[in-house]
Amino acid sequence: MRVAKDDTVIVIAGDDKGKTGKVLKVFPKKQRIIVEGINFIKRHTRARSRMEPGGVIEKEGSIHISNVMVVCPRCGEPTKPKRTRLVEGRRVRVCDKCNEIIGKA
Ligand SMILES: [Zn+2]
Repeated sequence: MRVAKDDTVIVIAGDDKGKTGKVLKVFPKKQRIIVEGINFIKRHTRARSRMEPGGVIEKEGSIHISNVMVVCPRCGEPTKPKRTRLVEGRRVRVCDKCNEIIGKA
């Protein structure tokens, strides 16, 4: 996965094109992610009790990772992170624009 939890991403396709948000959840097998405030879907729920009335709740739906680009926390540009290995052997992603390490070091 080139997108990780807590990354900031920009949507590059679809209804939410141009919006940015934080990655809340990643589904590696499906190559899909949930991004804060992006792709709200309406879900109709049935009343389960007096405390939980039915109705329409809006919740973020998952989007495919090909629809987003990671935004570099340093230069603020959308980037295609490069994978690289540090001297001590750790694998990290770096910004292809400013070479800053993205995500948890
Ligand atoms: Zn950068």
